[in-house]
Amino acid sequence: MTFMRLSCSIPDSQLPKKMLQYAMRYYSTRNRNNSVNFAQAALSGLAPDGGLFVPQEIPRYPPTAFFSLGAMSYPDIAFETIKPYVRDEIPDSTLQDIVRSAYTFDAPLVGIGDRFILELFHGPTAAFKDFGARFMARAFAYLRRGEDKPLRILVATSGDTGGAVADGFFKVPGIFVTVLYPKGRITPLQERQIAGLGANISALAVEGSFDDCQRLVKAALADEGLKKKMELSSANSINISRLIPQAAYYTAAAIRSAADNTGVGITLCVPSGNFGNLTAGLYAMKMGAPIKAFIAATNINKTFPDYLSTGEYQTRISQATISNAMDVGAPSNFERMAAHFSLDEMRRLILGVSVSDEETRETIVKVHGETGYFLDPHSAVGWKGVDKLLAKDNPNSRLLSEGPVGVLSTAHPAKFSETVEPLIGPAPLPESLARAMKRTVQSQTIPAEVSAVIEILNKEDA
Ligand SMILES: *Cc1c(COP(=O)(O)O)cnc(C)c1O
Repeated sequence: MTFMRLSCSIPDSQLPKKMLQYAMRYYSTRNRNNSVNFAQAALSGLAPDGGLFVPQEIPRYPPTAFFSLGAMSYPDIAFETIKPYVRDEIPDSTLQDIVRSAYTFDAPLVGIGDRFILELFHGPTAAFKDFGARFMARAFAYLRRGEDKPLRILVATSGDTGGAVADGFFKVPGIFVTVLYPKGRITPLQERQIAGLGANISALAVEGSFDDCQRLVKAALADEGLKKKMELSSANSINISRLIPQAAYYTAAAIRSAADNTGVGITLCVPSGNFGNLTAGLYAMKMGAPIKAFIAATNINKTFPDYLSTGEYQTRISQATISNAMDVGAPSNFERMAAHFSLDEMRRLILGVSVSDEETRETIVKVHGETGYFLDPHSAVGWKGVDKLLAKDNPNSRLLSEGPVGVLSTAHPAKFSETVEPLIGPAPLPESLARAMKRTVQSQTIPAEVSAVIEILNKEDA
C-alpha cells in the first residue's frame, strides 16, 4: 500500500501551546525525582539506578495531525511521532534528515485472509528492529557531534537486535559496538549479520541464554572500573531512543487501516519477547493513534500473559523455542509498562496469549496453504494468537468481531529458513539477506561471566 503525499509537516502554529513550552524530560522507572533530557537518556541507555528511562508524559499528536498523517509518507509520520520527544534537542531540519535517511523502506499494511499484516521486515536486516536501530544510530551520531572520546555500545541480543544495531552503527565514526549473543541459539544468518561486519563492530558468543547476555550487559554498564576508562551505553530495547521511533509504524498502520473502516480502531497483535515493541505500541495509542486494543502474543515464555491472568509478575528462566527472538523469561520493558500503566489499565488495553512451537509450525503450514503467504515463526505466533482469541469459546472473541485486526510481522520468513523451509519450502530471499549470507563469522566465545566481558572490553579499549 502506498500513500499520496499531500502535506509533509504540521506547522508549529497548529500545535497546542503546551507542547512548545518545554523540552521533554525523562526519568528513571525507579526514581521519579531525577530527570534528564533526551540526549542523556539515549546516550546512557540505562538510568544510574538501574531503572529504565521513560518520558515524563506521553505527548499527544495535535488533533489536526490526523488529517495530514493519513496522507503522509512513512518518514513524515516518523517525524511527527518523534518530534515531541526530542523537541529543542534535535532541530526539525536534522530530524527530517535523520528519518529520511533511516527510513528508505516502508511498513506496508497488507490484507491476508481475514486480517491485516503489518510487514516490518523491509529494512536491511529484515526484522522490525531496523526501525529503532537506524534512528538510534543517526540520533547518536548527531547528539555526540564534536565529541572526541569514543563511545562503546553494548548490546545483548536474542538474535535480531544484534544484527539491526550492528548494521545501524556500522562505520559510524567514534562509536564502537560490542554485541553479546547466546552461542548456538541464533541462526547462521543472524550470526553473520552480527559477527560478519567487522570494523567498529565486535561480537561475543556467550555460553548461556539471552537472559545471561542481558545480565552481563547490565553488569558491565554498571562497572565502575570500565566507566572510568570509557564512555558506555546500551542499545537494547531498554534504550528509549530505539523505542520511540517504533511508535511511528503503529500510527501509520492504525491510520491506514482506518481509511476503509468506520471509526473503530484496529486491534494489533504483537509477537513479544522483551516487550519493547508492544511498549512502543502503547505509546502510539496514548499519543492518539486509532488503536482499539493490543494482543500480546508470546511463545511458551509466557511471563506477561500469565501476569495479565493472575495479577502476579513472576519472571522465569527462558526456554528455547523456534521463535528465538522472543525467548525471554524476564522481559526488560515490563518495568517501563508498569511505570505508565496499572495492572487494571494493562488488562483493559492488552489481551495476553501464548503459543507453542507445535501451534507455530501448524500455523505456518495452514496460512501458506490457505493464502500462499509465508510467515516467519515469530509472526506465526502472532497469527495464531489472534486465532486463539477468535475461537468461539474464548471470552474475548466478541471484542475482535468489531474493527480491523492486524498482526505485526516482525521478521522476513527467509530469515528463519531453518524452520520455514522444511514446512512450506523456501521463501524468496531478499537481496540484503543474500549479501549477509556471504560474510564470515568473526566472534569470540566467552563463558556467561561478567569478568570475561570486562576483561575483553578492557583489552579492546587499549
Ligand atoms: C525482537 C523480536 C521480537 C520481540 O520483540 P520485543 O520488542 O523484544 O518484544 C519478535 N520478533 C522478532 C523477529 C524479533 O526480532
